[in-house]
Amino acid sequence: MLEWDTYVRIAIIKRMIFRGICLNEHKRTFVIDLKFDSVLIDVTLKAGRLWRGMTEGEASVEQRETHDIVDLFVIGGGINGCGIARDAVGRGLRVELAEMNDLASATSSASTKLFHGGLRYLEYWEVRLVREALIERETLLRAMPHISWPMRFVLPYHPDMRFDGDTPTSKVLNIFMPWMKGRRPAWLIRFGLFLYDNLGGRNILKGTTSLSLSGTPEGAPLEDRFEKAFEYSDCWIEDSRLVVLNARDAQARGAKINVRTKVVSAEQSDGIWNVTLEQQDGSQRVVQARMLINAGGPWVENVIRNTVRSNSTDGVRLVRGSHIVTRKLYDHDKCYFFQGEDGRIIFTIPYETDFTLIGTTDADHEDVSQKPVCTPEEQTYLLNFASKYLKEDISDDDVVWTYSGVRPLYNDGASSATAATRDYVLKVDKSSGAPILNVFGGKITTYRKLAESALEKIAGVLPDTGKPWTAGVPLPGGDFPVDGVGALKQRLSAQFPFLDDAWAARLIKAYGLDAFDLLGDAASIADLGQSFGFNLTEREVRWLVDHEFAQTAEDIVWRRSKLGLRLTTEEIDALDAWLTTATQHTV
Ligand SMILES: Cc1cc2nc3c(=O)[nH]c(=O)nc-3n(C[C@H](O)[C@H](O)[C@H](O)COP(=O)(O)OP(=O)(O)OC[C@H]3O[C@@H](n4cnc5c(N)ncnc54)[C@H](O)[C@@H]3O)c2cc1C
Repeated sequence: MLEWDTYVRIAIIKRMIFRGICLNEHKRTFVIDLKFDSVLIDVTLKAGRLWRGMTEGEASVEQRETHDIVDLFVIGGGINGCGIARDAVGRGLRVELAEMNDLASATSSASTKLFHGGLRYLEYWEVRLVREALIERETLLRAMPHISWPMRFVLPYHPDMRFDGDTPTSKVLNIFMPWMKGRRPAWLIRFGLFLYDNLGGRNILKGTTSLSLSGTPEGAPLEDRFEKAFEYSDCWIEDSRLVVLNARDAQARGAKINVRTKVVSAEQSDGIWNVTLEQQDGSQRVVQARMLINAGGPWVENVIRNTVRSNSTDGVRLVRGSHIVTRKLYDHDKCYFFQGEDGRIIFTIPYETDFTLIGTTDADHEDVSQKPVCTPEEQTYLLNFASKYLKEDISDDDVVWTYSGVRPLYNDGASSATAATRDYVLKVDKSSGAPILNVFGGKITTYRKLAESALEKIAGVLPDTGKPWTAGVPLPGGDFPVDGVGALKQRLSAQFPFLDDAWAARLIKAYGLDAFDLLGDAASIADLGQSFGFNLTEREVRWLVDHEFAQTAEDIVWRRSKLGLRLTTEEIDALDAWLTTATQHTV
């Protein structure tokens, strides 16, 4: 039996080493110390058990202190949370993330799905934001050529088009060309596109060209009054798949990703966060973390005020944007950029082969607890807006689906929702006694840069954080040449001849190289198991559950894919029922 003073000495040494761990976050040192410390904990616990003053419960708390403290706890599994988690774990930090619903269940699956510089932000002279996003487009495109691809945008020009009167460009034009009254001369639009082409980073994408709309495929769907247009490049991105691939990569590098797990409170003690997580069955557990990342998107302010209860005065401006999906409105594969009379713009984008995507609106959204939906007014607005350009008017009957999301913008006091900055703002707050980084705003396009900036801030709190590494590192399934989709699809079709053309294309554009693993040893359609409708099979569903955190039919048909546009309600219900039974017997 150990003497009382032996126990005290061991406990003091252990406490000192634990403090050493707290002060020195370098990963290698952490591991060596931890091993040494484990031995001491063991001795301490044995001694403690012999000493009647120490209960088993106290012992487990002591053990948890050293073994379970993560460096970063990330709140939110949207693009920003998953992007930061991936970057951080790749730099050697211990990372855990919690998402209260499905990954990308909020704003990050409701975007217009463009990697774009944001041509319209040039009107606001947001040159830094546009330049960063333009450079980033191609960096991202190279890292994920399966889920991102170039697109051409046709901007029909008409001298009567009106622009927002509140932008800095409008204010200058009002002084020097007062007779324009909100209109733009063609040369100014061309100059904006010249900047867009040349601000930085364009090597793969084609530059701007002028285009006649008379007698051309691009002019065919438009009213005859549009005779000329400019055409420029941006990129498509499958937004919700981008999130899940970041989460997968973070997990593969050692991060712990929890879905359907809400952070209900976070309190600090001795400079360490005690983060309480609640799962959907109501069960709770506590994780300890040195730093919190609040990537709660629309809930960022809610986390600040109610979850962490910090004194920070930073706030979010919620701006709702809605989209409608219609039957396919035209035959070519280009998008349109339409300028409205109210100074706003919308896009029409060829979508999922047989449809057209139209968006977006900009409306203040007061209450984060209200799920955003495309209101009848917003639907009418988008239909009327597009109809002003299209030869054939479109109506409610053409709409097959709508979706809506909320931009979690930093509240900069801008007069209108359209004018509020789209730039991201990162704020480290230490007022609670332990550090938290609050993430506001941003774009899908700048998520990787946002993560790098976040890691710079994190390094100020957790020294010895590694160097930037994500530029050019492919996401899962994306390690093939940027122009290699066609060749990859041919390879897939050759190896799995039972796939038809559209099916092979869908699998490559969703999974890239992983499509080969997904199909595995299948020699016929029968080997892919049950069919859930269209070309969704049991093999794919099992892959999504095993590798991509999917749990429900909604996860699968609206976020891991857009097969919701193809499946009937009955088929989706049947998939849900199958998932409930199958996951009980581990899919
Ligand atoms: C209509 C619209 C169109 C857009 N179009 C584009 C575009 O074309 N290109 C572009 O670059 N950008 C676009 N954006 C911007 C882009 O979509 C957003 O900036 C981005 O998705 C925000 O990601 P996020 O991770 O911050 O938020 P979210 O995706 O909303 O993620 C936050 C997550 O945090 C979770 N969460 C919150 N509180 C908790 C808690 N207590 N515990 C656990 N989890 C919690 C939520 O469930 C949510 O999933 C668009 C935005 C909108 C609204």
